[in-house]
Amino acid sequence: MKRISKSIGALLLLAGPFIWAQTRLPYLENKTLTYAQIIETYQALDEIYTNAQLLEVGTTDSGRPLHLFLIQNQPFFGEQTLAQLRGDKLVTLVNNGIHPGESCGIDASILWAQSMLEKGVPENQLIAIIPVYNVGGALNRGAYSRANQNGPQEHGFRGNAQNLDLNRDFVKAEALNTKSFFALFQALQPHIFVDTHTSNGANYQYTMTLISTQRDKLAAPLAKLLSEDLEPFLYQKMADKKWEMTPYVNVFGRPPNWGMQAFLETPRYASGYTALFNTLGFITETHMLKPYPDRVKSTLAFLETLTEYSSQQGEKIKQARAKAFALDATKKSFATQWVVDSTQKQMLDFKGYAYRYAQSPLGDYRVLRYDTTQPRTFPVDYYPNYKAKDSARVPKYFVLPQAYRQVVERLQYQNIEMERLPKDTVMEVLSTYCLEADFSTSPYEGKHPVKNLITEQKVQQRLFLKGDFLISTQQENIRFLMAVLAPTAVDSYLRWNFFDIIFQQKEHFSAYVFEETARALVAKDAALKKALEEWKAAHPQKATNTYAVLQFIYQHSPYYEQEHRRYPVVQIF
Ligand SMILES: [Zn+2]
Repeated sequence: MKRISKSIGALLLLAGPFIWAQTRLPYLENKTLTYAQIIETYQALDEIYTNAQLLEVGTTDSGRPLHLFLIQNQPFFGEQTLAQLRGDKLVTLVNNGIHPGESCGIDASILWAQSMLEKGVPENQLIAIIPVYNVGGALNRGAYSRANQNGPQEHGFRGNAQNLDLNRDFVKAEALNTKSFFALFQALQPHIFVDTHTSNGANYQYTMTLISTQRDKLAAPLAKLLSEDLEPFLYQKMADKKWEMTPYVNVFGRPPNWGMQAFLETPRYASGYTALFNTLGFITETHMLKPYPDRVKSTLAFLETLTEYSSQQGEKIKQARAKAFALDATKKSFATQWVVDSTQKQMLDFKGYAYRYAQSPLGDYRVLRYDTTQPRTFPVDYYPNYKAKDSARVPKYFVLPQAYRQVVERLQYQNIEMERLPKDTVMEVLSTYCLEADFSTSPYEGKHPVKNLITEQKVQQRLFLKGDFLISTQQENIRFLMAVLAPTAVDSYLRWNFFDIIFQQKEHFSAYVFEETARALVAKDAALKKALEEWKAAHPQKATNTYAVLQFIYQHSPYYEQEHRRYPVVQIF
């Protein structure tokens, strides 16, 4: 963490903070700030206000630092760590520009910070703003990405300096941006997290749409606070401010009045990751077709409304979060995959537009056309809930061999406590074998994830080496552990293919030599003989193939390597 030197502020001070910031922000002219202007603006606020500071908190794939802007109602003194600055304050973290083309939050956060610094920051709160997260994408500026979006005239690009979509990177962490985020997030431990975006998809009357972190993934005290108190407050107050919101319109290529479901942000997404640490996450999604100034103003209104709630209900939020951690410590299992709960329907009065399908002159197809001169209110079936499709029992320990350094490192970023085995040790453990697994044939965010995973578990005596990691589940960040180490969890490191190597067999046999061995094995093992006969009956074609028959016997013999398709992380119950 580095404090930015105070060197450029003197001239800006002369202009006065309010006039300077308000007149320099060009969002009213359908323009957003460049990367350099964003940082200069926060540097100026840092210069002017003793209760504001701009920090460098790690690096990004672009080679430029990741910045974090902090404000509180007391002056900042000396050098303090982020954890010290947090103390027992209520912390709100706002992330902007993860998709830099969706820049309304970048501009709105500056206006928000400026306004709070002038009018006063709520007591005992720490507001942390990432001015622009995807620095490489912000530097890759142009007028043509975001093809469907109504301004600003120029903006950044979705991919980062490594061309990664950073909003899919919160488990695999291939970007330095993500590792820097892990470090600042774990130090700040925010109660509330906001990630600002702009939507794609259908057309409708609302400027602001909202994804709240999916409630059914949360611990009960947080889910209750979110759905019964915080969300009603946000929707009501935003409507009062003439920025009526709708839940994110999670439909593409069809009109919303056919029904829609809540967005499920699994741990790969920013707010999916933050939810694993009992942080209440929100994703603001302004409508891409609304004028840019309105997108900025509605994002600003949302941030202000959220602060109204947190300044009134700070203690309630803190208590719910503390209860969530306490409850997590008692849980015997965690959901690892979810599906929409189609039994829990809610009716929305959705403010859309009349639409029709019209013949395209470009080809022989019909295209959906909205008529924005004809606003319509449609009753829409909305499915806000998800239910567990699969869950995993909580073991006493996971054991992670030290050889898998990429996984070890990613756990260390989350402050996971890990004990190293003091000597080589044989332990009785539960191993997981991947009976079936396919690999995505096309790349997804730099990986070829494992699909269609079917596993089987076996109790085994296994040797672990001095220095391998014994990970107790009796620790605060249990949700993250279960989300990444439970093998079939939707965003587990196994699914993200961090263990690709286990799917390759290392040793084989030569048919002409193994034939004699195989005969001897079958002759002395009645169970193997029976299994072979059953297999041949089920696969008559394969029974005519020398290699297939010998392979079956080999794989059911002591010669076959135990490591093949065995997940290296084990569980101890
Ligand atoms: Zn986005």
